[in-house]
Amino acid sequence: MSARVERLETGVFTFPTAVPEADGTLTWDATTAVTVQLTADGVTGLGWTYTSPATRAVIEDHLSAVVVGQDPHAIADLHEWMRRACRNLGTKGLVAQAISAVDIALWDLSSRLLQVPLARLLGAAPDAVVPVYGSGGFTTLTDDELRAQVDGWLAAGCRAVKIKVGESWGANPSRDLARAGQVREMVGPGVELMVDANGGYGRGQARRLGAAYDELGVVWFEEPVSSDDLEGLAAVRSAVRCDVAAGEYAWDVYDARALCPVVDCLQLDATRCGGYTGFRAGAEVAAAHGLAVSAHCAPSLHAFVAAATPHLRHIEWFADHARLEPLLVDGAPGVADGQLLPGEAAGHGMTLAAGAKQYRRR
Ligand SMILES: [Mg+2]
Repeated sequence: MSARVERLETGVFTFPTAVPEADGTLTWDATTAVTVQLTADGVTGLGWTYTSPATRAVIEDHLSAVVVGQDPHAIADLHEWMRRACRNLGTKGLVAQAISAVDIALWDLSSRLLQVPLARLLGAAPDAVVPVYGSGGFTTLTDDELRAQVDGWLAAGCRAVKIKVGESWGANPSRDLARAGQVREMVGPGVELMVDANGGYGRGQARRLGAAYDELGVVWFEEPVSSDDLEGLAAVRSAVRCDVAAGEYAWDVYDARALCPVVDCLQLDATRCGGYTGFRAGAEVAAAHGLAVSAHCAPSLHAFVAAATPHLRHIEWFADHARLEPLLVDGAPGVADGQLLPGEAAGHGMTLAAGAKQYRRR
């Protein structure tokens, strides 16, 4: 147990989408992953976050010196020291993403050094599996493309699916409703329908559309208004039957605490909220408010911590990440019967794929 972190290496990988994609409030044509590899005693741990290439500079200029030379098992201390080192930068946004990637790499490194599966180190039962929901349904998809995506989720055994609504900042509500209705018909009564407006509606619009989504049997209304608008979330929540969810921009436990009173399920993203350390802390905050948690995106990374979260609702099997994670890493856990299996390898069992070179920018 006398290992020291000897080396920190970063990588920037950009995966173009086949065509531009959009949700209610953003359009994109690529996803960038910034990776961190930490080495100790000839063993390497891997973490990453979905972010801007600028996050690499935060890691190299501000976090590397904090962790190199330190005990890789002392994650609680190292996590806190990283936050303290970034006080004057602000600890949210890119800094939180940078800390998340390093924290995840530390957990992977620690469990590999101990030669135990990461999920077990985090407290999961040996046979733990975690449910996923199919997520995508971009506003840019044609009806046929949407149908093909939903069919893929059903074939993989998903018991819930989520599509994007709030097209063009809420400018096309009739198409939002038509698409939700189309998916409601496609999936049948045994599968839950979820919608995500990415903060695209105004408060009144979200209440009115929420009533229409209720009529369609929607069970989950994510970011009906901006998650910065806590009063707006509360107003929508009190007006609709479906669960209101938010939390993908919870950067720390303070954000989690602020959101808990105004949501029905807290979303947490380990690649943003401080890695596995931050995810576990946020999940405990949710538990203290009587709420379940749902993991946002990055399904391959969330499988391990989700398996050790007793009040987990599900993991988001997000189309872009589900496509790119097997290109970025070897050993990504697969989905079968609507569930992710964390696996029995030491650590999270994932290593950078040789083929990822073609997507490497730095
Ligand atoms: Mg979302």
